[in-house]
Amino acid sequence: MDEKRKQLQEWISESQNIVFFGGAGVSTESGIPDFRSVDGLYNQQYAYLPETILSHTFFQKNPEEFYRFYHNKMLFPNAKPNAAHLKLAELEQAGKLTAVVTQNIDGLHQAAGSVNVYELHGSVHRNYCMKCHQFYDLDFMMEQEGVPHCPVCGGMIKPDVVLYEESLDQETIEGAVLAISRADMLIIGGTSLAVYPAAGLIRYYRGSKLTLINKSPTPYDKEADLVIAGPIGEILGAVTV
Ligand SMILES: [Zn+2]
Repeated sequence: MDEKRKQLQEWISESQNIVFFGGAGVSTESGIPDFRSVDGLYNQQYAYLPETILSHTFFQKNPEEFYRFYHNKMLFPNAKPNAAHLKLAELEQAGKLTAVVTQNIDGLHQAAGSVNVYELHGSVHRNYCMKCHQFYDLDFMMEQEGVPHCPVCGGMIKPDVVLYEESLDQETIEGAVLAISRADMLIIGGTSLAVYPAAGLIRYYRGSKLTLINKSPTPYDKEADLVIAGPIGEILGAVTV
């Protein structure tokens, strides 16, 4: 084991209040592409950028095209948790990890067994009727063709995910802030920290074990106490709880 991984293991072993903050890189190892990355979802199938299609305005103006993209590029019902998801769930069950804060909407942390998960950008597993607020799960959405409508009232169904131009859920943000401010170790993985509100949130951490695990450098490498370059699943998966 190299020095950095040894340090990671030591800190995890001695910490009792770990918070994990994760981004798209956590899910790419489960086969879910990052729609922002160049080798991710950019291709010739759509006349608009993903950021345009996934905006509130676009959803309202052109729900047919939104849902065509959403079904093809955002839903991965067969994706399975990877070693990172599983290790984090294990750490929570062992009473060492208090929260996972994620920018991902795929629900893989819960699928791995994590309980206290703050989903900053919502979840594809929750969908609601914009008229009567009835909730629908991912299975229901997978069966729909085109724009899904509520079987109860006929209203249009919207995924409970935060689109561009929309604000984040206040309770989720507050929960994440509180967890991070109380953490004795903060592990940030699979994110370049470029996406709002990641950078703002990590400022609430007051400890001295800020660990960054990412394949490529981030603007926050200098502020971190430990930086490990590599795939998150392999690195966390090797940790002993
Ligand atoms: Zn309805």
